Amino acid sequence: MALHRIGIIGLGKIAQDQHLPVVKADPDFHLLAVSSQRGLTHEDARYTFLDYRDLLKLPEVEAVSICTPPQVRHQIAREALLAGKDVLLEKPPAATLSELEDLKDLAAKMGRVVFTTWHAQYNKAVDEAKKALAGWTIKRLLVTWKEDVRHWHPGQQWIWEAGGFGVFDPGINALSIVTRIMPEPVFIKSSTLEFPANRDAPIAANLTFSMSHGTGNLQAVFDWRQTGPQTWDIEVETDAGLTLKLSHGGSCLEIGGREVVNETPAEYQAIYRRFDELLNARQSEVDIAPFRLVADAFMIGKRVQVDAFED
Ligand code: NAP
Repeated sequence: MALHRIGIIGLGKIAQDQHLPVVKADPDFHLLAVSSQRGLTHEDARYTFLDYRDLLKLPEVEAVSICTPPQVRHQIAREALLAGKDVLLEKPPAATLSELEDLKDLAAKMGRVVFTTWHAQYNKAVDEAKKALAGWTIKRLLVTWKEDVRHWHPGQQWIWEAGGFGVFDPGINALSIVTRIMPEPVFIKSSTLEFPANRDAPIAANLTFSMSHGTGNLQAVFDWRQTGPQTWDIEVETDAGLTLKLSHGGSCLEIGGREVVNETPAEYQAIYRRFDELLNARQSEVDIAPFRLVADAFMIGKRVQVDAFED
């Protein structure tokens, strides 16, 4: 199929760590343009803009990857779709569910492709976990997502602002795995959100889930104050006694205490493979489930004020 000429909007951490090198190495994509408010550029891009609107005016750009913070994604994605571009959305795909619905509808109306990427889902261990759990009743789920915000998000003020999602920025990765592997939908039953006194987004959260069937013990603990070893684990037990543990953010899987997958993550390579398929098929992919759980956790969440936090 034809080479996809794309533009990348927002050259922050994830664009530099993943999108730029992965696009460069992918023979089905060609980086034609970038836009960066700070005036950053990339050696492969023929065009560099300060304002993404100028990038969207380029007729040769077929698709854009929007790598900005979530608060501004809807506006940029909307303008991109209206300019006739296909759109890849970094996670979280928008700031609200209504914005995401709007993008889905607008893409359909414009005949464009919109793709919600949930990078943590693109792991063989996640696929294998989904297969192993299919058809079982879940007795226990424990999600432990604890990391050091100072290490992973240095200087990112947007993440502490309303709409930046705080600890749900990494936590939504765990939820994207949960919604992928669980054999039936989970709901947020209760949620406690810890807000630092000086911040508008939570630094920690405790969630309990329910499901239509069963009365399992289903929980998630997210915390951004963990120093030392970092924990990104999901443990599951079925009523038949099958135990399963995903660790290292979804790249390793143990079933019954035996390691069955341990792979170096190649999540963004797989994301662009999927984007290539969607572009060729002229098909959108909008997975709202992880985002809806976050919205529900905020909607019914009990808010607790904790010590001020400086990064
Ligand atoms: P970041 O380092 O703060 O980069 C975001 C970039 O977006 C900024 O550097 C800026 O780039 C651009 N930007 C900011 N405000 C903008 C605005 N109003 N209009 C247009 N562009 C704007 O954040 P990040 O870590 O890359 O995260 C970006 C998104 O990727 C988030 O949704 C995050 O959840 C997701 N993500 C991050 C990681 C990670 O490891 N950091 C992993 C997976 C997904 P310019 O100055 O170049 O325009």
